[in-house]
Amino acid sequence: MIVDSHCHVSTSRYDEDRAEVLSRARAAGVAAMIDVGCDLASSEASLALAEAEPELVYATVGLHPHEAKHWDEETPARLRELARHPRVLAIGECGLDFYYDHSPRDVQRAVFREHLALARELDLPVVLHIRDAYDEALGILDEAGAGGGGVLRGVAHCFTGNARQALGFVERGFGVSFTGVVTFMKATEVQEAAQAIPQDHLLVETDCPYMSPVPLRGKRCEPAFVVHTARKIAELRGEPEAEVFAATARNAARVFGFSL
Ligand SMILES: [Zn+2]
Ligand SMILES: [Zn+2]
Repeated sequence: MIVDSHCHVSTSRYDEDRAEVLSRARAAGVAAMIDVGCDLASSEASLALAEAEPELVYATVGLHPHEAKHWDEETPARLRELARHPRVLAIGECGLDFYYDHSPRDVQRAVFREHLALARELDLPVVLHIRDAYDEALGILDEAGAGGGGVLRGVAHCFTGNARQALGFVERGFGVSFTGVVTFMKATEVQEAAQAIPQDHLLVETDCPYMSPVPLRGKRCEPAFVVHTARKIAELRGEPEAEVFAATARNAARVFGFSL
């Protein structure tokens, strides 16, 4: 059994063969997958898929840092309304992406803070998308009261920072989730991070359709491929594969508050 803690199967990339993708995931042992919203429309699509597949799919709602510029005064009310649904487990993905800078940085910071406030208000975890901004993101989490035994909690998804930054999230009670990037030969820093964090904070994900793990790199990714990522992490950590599958599934269930 394994959990894909972050995927985008509700997007149009799967319109042709979504049923097959879901059945391949089940066949690979995927017990649950979390389909993540990136804007209001995709958050609605995630929820629709979660409603249609109540045995397998959960949803999250939020604005990706790329979409932060689209946040307006009606957005919080729309997100609040969507988040009321029991299949919605978290707020996000939200955060800072200073690699692409598709939204101005000051807007990204402000909208990130709005998401953290909403997550606290609704007592939901947050899905963090952080790229080239880990230290600043940790500072914003601290300002928002992370790690103080409060309600702010969640996961740093598609982690691509170093071991020190990964441990920064762990110290604040956050999970750290790895994609296929950890299987790439040149990703030594990410691999060190995957080795450094305690097993009870480790999650795995595909972030599909992106970043297929080795040996499937270059293909459209899908949740069934998450086993390759978990296998690589087991190898890096010198832990049995089955133990890493089970621990990452258990951690996802704990962070997002669902039962396996
Ligand atoms: Zn992301
Ligand atoms: Zn994503």
